Amino acid sequence: MNGRQITLDDDTRIDADFVIVGAGVRPAVFLAEKSGLAVDRGVSVNEYLETSVPGIFAAGDIARWPDPRSGGRIRVEHWMVAERQGQTAAVNMLGFGEKFDAVPFFWSQHYDLTINYVGHAEQWEDAELDGSFASRDFGITYKRASRVLAVATASRDVQSLQTELAMESGGWAATEG
Ligand SMILES: Cc1cc2nc3c(=O)[nH]c(=O)nc-3n(C[C@H](O)[C@H](O)[C@H](O)COP(=O)(O)OP(=O)(O)OC[C@H]3O[C@@H](n4cnc5c(N)ncnc54)[C@H](O)[C@@H]3O)c2cc1C
Repeated sequence: MNGRQITLDDDTRIDADFVIVGAGVRPAVFLAEKSGLAVDRGVSVNEYLETSVPGIFAAGDIARWPDPRSGGRIRVEHWMVAERQGQTAAVNMLGFGEKFDAVPFFWSQHYDLTINYVGHAEQWEDAELDGSFASRDFGITYKRASRVLAVATASRDVQSLQTELAMESGGWAATEG
């Protein structure tokens, strides 16, 4: 790869105006697995962030937890999720029995564009755009079965906060517009 051209494994060369590299990551579960913790594309935890071994907790990128909104088990790589899970895990190490039910949230800055994202949508049926990319003022609502899974915004902090509040207090349909 030289910025204008990429060479594939079979030596095929593809010209490009520019090249974006999307390099995924995988959680390092080797130690957890060898220690006898249940793993499932991450370290499996319950709603208290406790692993399959009582007294051992996992939080952040490595933890896959039961998501109260979707009913599924999710693993999320967001800085705020890691921070909030760390707080919940610490509280539960002290025996307080606090369920982790925070709505996943992140913001990400790309030069002069800040994107906010609330919720969690691995798969969706509709992605409704309100606003425009050109003006850098937009909201995208991701839905499945008419339910709001997640909202991504730029220049719409209030909408992000309202979405987070609605998801925290009511569930999926609360932010449908
Ligand atoms: C390039 C990049 C950009 C990102 N941008 C954003 C963003 O814009 N917004 C956002 O919300 N999130 C972003 N993230 C994700 C965010 O950084 C992570 O969700 C967050 O750092 C996860 O925190 P963590 O504590 O779970 O894991 P980590 O920050 O990965 O910390 C895990 C620590 O454990 C240590 N460790 C691992 N194995 C062992 C071991 N066996 N013994 C001792 N120590 C060990 C590691 O060295 C590391 O220090 C980004 C991530 C990357 C890589």
